[in-house]
Amino acid sequence: MEHLNDTSLFRPFAYIDGGWVAADSGEQIEVDNPATGEIIGRVPRLGYAETERAIEAAQHSFADWKETPALERADILMKWYALMLEHKDDLAQIMTLEQGKPLAEAAGEIQYAASFLRWFAEEGQRVYGDTIPAAKRDQRILVLKQPVGVVGAITPWNFPASMITRKAGAALAAGCPIVVKPASQTPFSALALAVLAERAGVPRGVFNVVPGSAKDIAKAMTDSSIVRKVTFTGSTEVGRGLMANAAQHIQKISLELGGNAPFLVFEDADLDAAVEGAMAAKFRNAGQTCVCTNRFLVQSSVVNAFSEKLAAAMNAELTVGNGLEEGVKVGPLIDGDAVERVTEHVQDALDKGAELLLGGHPHPLGGSFFTPTLISQVTPEMKVAREETFGPLAAIFPFESEEEAIEMANDTEFGLASYFYSSDLKRVWRVSEGLDYGMVGINTGLISNAAAPFGGTKASGLGREGSKYGLEEYMETKYLCLSLG
Ligand code: ADP
Repeated sequence: MEHLNDTSLFRPFAYIDGGWVAADSGEQIEVDNPATGEIIGRVPRLGYAETERAIEAAQHSFADWKETPALERADILMKWYALMLEHKDDLAQIMTLEQGKPLAEAAGEIQYAASFLRWFAEEGQRVYGDTIPAAKRDQRILVLKQPVGVVGAITPWNFPASMITRKAGAALAAGCPIVVKPASQTPFSALALAVLAERAGVPRGVFNVVPGSAKDIAKAMTDSSIVRKVTFTGSTEVGRGLMANAAQHIQKISLELGGNAPFLVFEDADLDAAVEGAMAAKFRNAGQTCVCTNRFLVQSSVVNAFSEKLAAAMNAELTVGNGLEEGVKVGPLIDGDAVERVTEHVQDALDKGAELLLGGHPHPLGGSFFTPTLISQVTPEMKVAREETFGPLAAIFPFESEEEAIEMANDTEFGLASYFYSSDLKRVWRVSEGLDYGMVGINTGLISNAAAPFGGTKASGLGREGSKYGLEEYMETKYLCLSLG
């Protein structure tokens, strides 16, 4: 980490109760650079007992943190925000090294991640209660909002910083302490955030980072009667298990799970704008985001024109390589399994009659690089129609009518992000209402924003993150019934 301006941001320890600690067992997790396979460092591999200690430390800190005025909590969050921006280059560097995304994208994520701290610092000062007209003369009804208590968070590798601040920003602003288990592929980004949290004045125990065994840490969180909320971003499979385990102590739970985002292009769309949106919605993070388009549904009258324009844009813009190199737009996938899954989706589609327009194979650079791929004439029988590819594969499904498009779009167990392009106002309204998704991008391929409620329907999850709705998830509603009689 000799390239960092501030080398102390690179911490090979866990962060519990304001201290930098190793695992009880002494075990470590090796963290590699997916672009080169080199080991960039090691972090402690924590388990059940250390997580219990982190939860207890969080509980200990809760008494004071919940009494700290919202304005003071906001000042600390704003300081944390400012420190993230001050160290943006270093944080981006650490992220690219452990995650692989191009440096410019990593810097963009740091900016986005920091924006949650700012947003919740501001919004946390506006947690209003309520007074309700009572049914009786001598009665008064009041409603208070109070922090739920200790939060357990489990986060994924695709957004190593923003998936943490989106949870921690809301939790801390609401008055809750948090224990975060980062993905084992990307713990250094999480630990760098802890360094800055400490510098910003986040009190000990309020923000803890426990890298280690996912199963053991998750179990410690759901076994605990102290943890009052569990929040998770990751696969539907893991989310389902967590939800079942959270039932033990009836913990509140937020789940941001898999998606199968449709991107509809109608014949009245501005095709150039649609291609621009498609590039952003498909190839950001090499296709490894839960809101990445999985299915391009294109009206048959414009399918050829759209495919040609998209192929041209992909050819012109998608330089594959090590994310640290200038001009690279598509980094490596996170690991070999990811390459296997994309290869399988491409092969399955081609076997079942899809047409290959571009790419179709792992990239000549080797490792976990994959060549951006475009296939058309895709049908619902193919794997890519049902499963999240999580890689740089653009699959085009033709459709005839608006009704058919909506039906195809909704024909999935998932309901996270969706997108469509149309210039017909009435259609915009109809389709927006018809899509069974938590989020709809209308004539845009980029929807994420700290001020907006992010989340899904059906198997894509529960609850919302970001926005005033995201803050609500960390609070209980308490009703006071006051008798004047
Ligand atoms: P992804 O496909 O994004 O890796 P995962 O759900 O496997 O999604 O991982 C997301 C987060 O969930 C990571 O922090 C990972 O360590 C954690 N995780 C993986 N398996 C489990 C599990 N059985 N219980 C709890 N957390 C898990």
